[in-house]
Amino acid sequence: MATSVERSAPARTKYEPVIGLEVHVQLLTASKIFCSCSTRFGDPPNTNVCPVCLGLPGALPVLNRKAIEFATLAAMALNCEIRETSIFARKNYFYPDLPKGYQISQYDKPLAEHGFIEIETNAGRARTPGAPQTKRIGITRVHLEEDAGKSLHEGFVGAGETTAIDLNRSGVPLIEIVSEPDIASPEEAYEYLTRLKEIILYTGVSDVNMEEGSLRCDANVSVRPRGEKKFGTKTEVKNVNSFRFIREALEYEIERQIEVIEGGGKITQETRLYNSVEGKTYGMRSKEQAHDYRYFPEPDLLPLVVDEKWRTQIRSTLPELPEARRKRMMSDYGITAQDAHTLTLTKLLADQFESAAKAAKNPKRVANLVQSELTGRLKAKGLEIEQSPITMKGVAESADLVESDVISGKMLKDLYDLAFERGKDFPAVYEEEGRPEQSRDTSALEKIIDEVLAANPKQVEQYRGGKKTVSGFFVGQVMKLSKGQANPQLVNELVAKKLD
Ligand code: ADP
Ligand code: ZN
Ligand code: MG
Repeated sequence: MATSVERSAPARTKYEPVIGLEVHVQLLTASKIFCSCSTRFGDPPNTNVCPVCLGLPGALPVLNRKAIEFATLAAMALNCEIRETSIFARKNYFYPDLPKGYQISQYDKPLAEHGFIEIETNAGRARTPGAPQTKRIGITRVHLEEDAGKSLHEGFVGAGETTAIDLNRSGVPLIEIVSEPDIASPEEAYEYLTRLKEIILYTGVSDVNMEEGSLRCDANVSVRPRGEKKFGTKTEVKNVNSFRFIREALEYEIERQIEVIEGGGKITQETRLYNSVEGKTYGMRSKEQAHDYRYFPEPDLLPLVVDEKWRTQIRSTLPELPEARRKRMMSDYGITAQDAHTLTLTKLLADQFESAAKAAKNPKRVANLVQSELTGRLKAKGLEIEQSPITMKGVAESADLVESDVISGKMLKDLYDLAFERGKDFPAVYEEEGRPEQSRDTSALEKIIDEVLAANPKQVEQYRGGKKTVSGFFVGQVMKLSKGQANPQLVNELVAKKLD
């Protein structure tokens, strides 16, 4: 791929990509959207099924209240307007894992519309310092629908010759979140998905786990000459199973489209698959048009009414969302944007940090320790912050010990090293080490200082000759000899007193 990128580099700047994402998110309800079968992931195939989700004739769907509440909550978190009356529709198509021959979805009257997600355009791979630049990516619609079953091609007797169908997933509630074609680069697409996932996680309506298929993304992309208003013909890349691969697939697809157009060809509207090993997309089938699906209102379901009272009730369960929380935490604790970012990676972490910080003597010190002492050690061990042996409570406790001068910064570092070695939290290690305290024993310190001064007559002379900065050298030597146990402040004072 490298050579083709180089070859088309000048052509590349003549074009700009246009990207729109369609994201399916599985809602974490206990039962399916139109029946009471379990939605549990990983159960033996075809054990969570009934006439409704098997699509047997005459079986009637009954709408799951929880699914509506979750979908509405997610749509609110994505700044959408909720439609008072939305309509379920049949989307007709044949697929082996769709036994009814149609999917119940929503079409021209979806649950929610006109939302947006704010992304940072200078974030991403190389997070640039300074104020974040933000951009709104419009959300066209959020609608409710049911999932289809799953075709299995491996992992059973006879695989290779036959395909098996597991209908456990049939009828699991999904929301589809459709973005406006506002995304201007693969990097922005990556950022959009990261923010989307984070927001959904905060609402708690889904675990948005890509491996288990509870978040799936189809990426639509076209290119057009820079400055052109009209969109080019798009292709849709389906079934990409990580955000990183989506970014790569888009990068490849943009290059491919430019090359086709530069070569005098035309882009055909089609669905393509991404091969992550080769880093290439392949045409799969020509894209259906909406009218191919023969949508019509679902006759077995009444219009869905989410009235104002219900909306208010749902809105009251909306938690503080990550973006707002970061801003508030920056002002509440005087921490940097970078700190706030790390500390809000998950809602749980942010909650833990805040309760620890509130109880600590100096919240800012807690945040600083996370950044200066925790993240580096985690990275070295390949751990995520949620897997840290030192909890937020542990960080807060250590911060308090430094704050009240009981231990020095050097001692804290050593104790953190021990905690990581032993895989134990800070308080446990602090106990194991016999609750060490930094030395405030002036007579012992004075003895060390005398030794240091005696051993370095040349530096003493320099100091007395007016080169006051040499005192730093003495403090360093004393700290070293006291094995970091001395209070640096105190050593400073004592050294100055001795020398003057
Ligand atoms: P379809 O009917 O083919 O599914 P939609 O109009 O529903 O198309 O749009 C699907 C997604 O594709 C949306 O996210 C939309 O923003 C995006 N999209 C639409 N037109 C284009 C285009 N020309 N280039 C890139 N993305 C597009
Ligand atoms: Zn069922
Ligand atoms: Mg569409």
